[in-house]
Amino acid sequence: MTIGAPSGARPRIGVVALQGDFREHIASLTALGADVVPLRRPEELGGLHGVVIPGGESSVMDKLGRMFGLADPLAEAIRGGLPTYGTCAGMIMLSSRLTNAIAGQQTLDVLDTTVTRNAFGTQNDSFEIDIPMPELGERPVHAVFIRAPVVESQGPGVVTLGALPDGRAVAVQQDNVIASAFHPEVSGEDRFHRRFLALVATA
Ligand code: GLN
Repeated sequence: MTIGAPSGARPRIGVVALQGDFREHIASLTALGADVVPLRRPEELGGLHGVVIPGGESSVMDKLGRMFGLADPLAEAIRGGLPTYGTCAGMIMLSSRLTNAIAGQQTLDVLDTTVTRNAFGTQNDSFEIDIPMPELGERPVHAVFIRAPVVESQGPGVVTLGALPDGRAVAVQQDNVIASAFHPEVSGEDRFHRRFLALVATA
């Protein structure tokens, strides 16, 4: 791991590519000028300036991450300051506490939140909503939720970037870790990836 992209050079970003919509993140980050590589094995962490964890199925991503020996070194790198952005299943992977987890499911435990998986039930498991997020600019974020989690509670170090009308957070940041319960990578919304790359540039 190398914290802080060299100025002038393209930042090198690893997208966890065990499972899920990693291709969409690779496309979003490449469009913003990053040098993007798939991340599956611990030895691929070296030389990265930031990491993205995609949407998908967190229980499967968890199993594969441990099987590939990636989970522990990745968690250690994030605790050491590596800028990280997780969407949906990626938010679940980052969270310290889960409700509605499957038996034995583990996380990287690097974000001081309690997150409920599949928080919107099976009747209403996909929806889209515009959410004001002043930290990302004046225009609301068009958020696409797909079997999404929600943040039930968070520690004092966690900043809410966006919340549902009922007040529950769906986008948060704790220092070098950004997480959203929805999928900017599928809706052409690039401000989360820009915010992440700005973190990378200043780390
Ligand atoms: N429900 C999935 C999980 O528990 C997350 C869905 C998603 O990433 N779109 O991991």
